[in-house]
Amino acid sequence: MRRGGTPHGPHRVNAWARPPPRPYPAPMGIHRSSYVCLPCRGSYKRDHRPGTHRCPRCGAAMTGVGAAFQPPRRNDTEGWRVLSVLLHAGLRFHKQGCSGGGSGYRPRTLAEVKARMALARRTGEPFAEALVRPVV
Ligand SMILES: [Zn+2]
Repeated sequence: MRRGGTPHGPHRVNAWARPPPRPYPAPMGIHRSSYVCLPCRGSYKRDHRPGTHRCPRCGAAMTGVGAAFQPPRRNDTEGWRVLSVLLHAGLRFHKQGCSGGGSGYRPRTLAEVKARMALARRTGEPFAEALVRPVV
C-alpha cells in the first residue's frame, strides 16, 4: 500500500464535481484496521500487522481496535470515555464474518455502559461479555 494513507479531506461542495472514485478494494491478504490513541482522541487506519503502530501526534503506542471501528467525534467526550471503558475491558471492533458487517453491538453512551456493568455485577457475567449485550 503506497497510497499515502491520507484520509479524505473535507469535501468541497462543487456543483459540477463528480462523486469521488470508490477506493480500491484492499489487495488480498492486506487488511486495513483502525488504531486509536486515547489521549489524543485520534483514530488512524493502518495496515493490520503485528507490532506497534505509534500515534503520529504524541508517539505513544496505539491500540488496534479492528476494522469495523467508527471513531467518536473528537469533541464527543462521552463517546471517548465509553470507548476507553470498552478497550480496557478488552473489547475490539472486528468485522464479523467476511460479509463486511459491523462488529456487532457496542454501547455508545455511559448510561448503556452502566446498565451493563450493573448486569455483570448482578449476574456475575464477565464484564466484557455483558458490555456487548444489545439488551439488558
Ligand atoms: Zn497520541
